[in-house]
Amino acid sequence: MSAPEHLHVHPCLRCGACCAYYRASFYWAEADDATPGGVPVGMTRRLTEHRRSMLGMDGDRPRCVALVGEVGGRVYCSIYERRSSVCREFEPSFENGSANERCDRARAAWGLRPLTPDDWASWRSEG
Ligand code: SF4
Ligand code: SF4
Repeated sequence: MSAPEHLHVHPCLRCGACCAYYRASFYWAEADDATPGGVPVGMTRRLTEHRRSMLGMDGDRPRCVALVGEVGGRVYCSIYERRSSVCREFEPSFENGSANERCDRARAAWGLRPLTPDDWASWRSEG
């Protein structure tokens, strides 16, 4: 019998909570008007003199403009290969052995339980 279908999917691709909770902001030159292949500048706005943020992150219901899908369902980042350093450096809880309180908090805000080591064991064994 094959494993349940959801075990084949990376835990972040069944979440997306941090992309609809925290403002992703980064050094302005990570955008593609300064760095070829960088973050599409049209998806960003100027935050301060030296920083940009992704569009969609202001207001009561923040959601990055690059996030596709339903938070807690199936999601993906439409600019995955071009996402900023702040997105690349955000670690899901227990992917590398320890909890990330910010991951847990974003998930809790969306009614999702914290990830556990078992989530990764399941994914890795089936991936
Ligand atoms: S909140 Fe955590 S599990 Fe969810 S997408 Fe972000 S890093 Fe991944
Ligand atoms: S650019 Fe991608 S990884 Fe970064 S916040 Fe937006 S959807 Fe999430």
